[in-house]
Amino acid sequence: MTIVHETPARRIVFAAGSAGTLQGELAELGWRRPLVISGRSHAAHAERLVAALGAGGTIIGVRVHVPVALAADARARARELAADCVVAIGGGSAVGLAKAVALTEHLPIAAVPTTYAGSELTTVWGVTEDGRKTTGRSAAVAPRLVVYDPELTYGLPPEITGPSGMNAVAHCVEALWGPNATPLTEIAAREGIALLARGIPASQRAPHDTEARATALTGAWLAGEAFAAGGALHHKLCHVIGGMLDLPHAELHAILLPYSAAFLLPSAPRAARAIARALGTDDAAAGLAALAREVGIPAGLAALGMTEADAARVAAAAFPDLPAEPRRPTPVELEDLLLRAVRGTALPH
Ligand code: NAD
Repeated sequence: MTIVHETPARRIVFAAGSAGTLQGELAELGWRRPLVISGRSHAAHAERLVAALGAGGTIIGVRVHVPVALAADARARARELAADCVVAIGGGSAVGLAKAVALTEHLPIAAVPTTYAGSELTTVWGVTEDGRKTTGRSAAVAPRLVVYDPELTYGLPPEITGPSGMNAVAHCVEALWGPNATPLTEIAAREGIALLARGIPASQRAPHDTEARATALTGAWLAGEAFAAGGALHHKLCHVIGGMLDLPHAELHAILLPYSAAFLLPSAPRAARAIARALGTDDAAAGLAALAREVGIPAGLAALGMTEADAARVAAAAFPDLPAEPRRPTPVELEDLLLRAVRGTALPH
């Protein structure tokens, strides 16, 4: 057995109110002129940070999947400011734009996540041009500093909290059979599922409850750590569907997960036991479906506009390059899985 577990150097600060320590954290690292990238929901935090530092500048407003034109503008702004770091305050879209800048401008990143997407802990970057998403891995885009502040997630409405949380659950589930899984990613995945299953519904019921939000965000942190294991069939399908049909990232993961898991789990009994235990149930696939229902995820991808004809096209595009672990579907099985996911065919209760 050979195991390689590589952890990029990073400092993680987790506390309610910790966004207020960001200026001091940057100073500790010797960073003085940040390009601060934020979504509109956290523009005030970005502006305040730059005003307090008296240096650097902001980009307010990001787009999902990092369009190349936006990346080019952000890179130019970083050069114009002579920025010495990039700070991302927001969800995966803000962190994604920061990564695009870091990749070419060789700047370190500080990330302040406000969703459960987990990009702040991965080495994966991506940009989109003419509807085609190019992704890659580079240690240079792994944030050096991550500040988790549950208070920043108070404003995340239930309809984003649910899918974003299930996106993190998907990282945990596939980490259990990902190509680079290690004992540490397995522990993170198991614990991440348990925390998310408690924290996400509780955060939807009480969006300003610090404990609920901290539970969910800790689960998302562990999901990001777990995802160093890499993804498999579920992530491959989301990548192909997302690129081909431009569907919203978190919602797509959230709806597909119970279907991809129901297909794969019979071939991954150890993972199935771990997921079932984390969810406090006997049946992992049914438990994931029940969690998705509880947090308000629609049953089928048709709710996002995907059609049965799309399912056939996705199956054809994805099939040649499917991961073998824990199980590679036949063309018929793959199309059947996707058709069930489009139709929202009932899963076991
Ligand atoms: P997002 O960043 O686009 O945010 C979703 C929506 O939530 C936006 O409208 C945003 O303004 C809003 N929002 C974010 N935080 C909020 C808050 N605290 N309060 C109120 N509103 C808030 O979506 P996402 O799901 O976080 O990220 C999706 C993107 O991240 C995709 O492009 C995906 O490919 C990428 N991603 C990358 C990785 C990676 O490892 N590279 C991992 C996961 C996701």
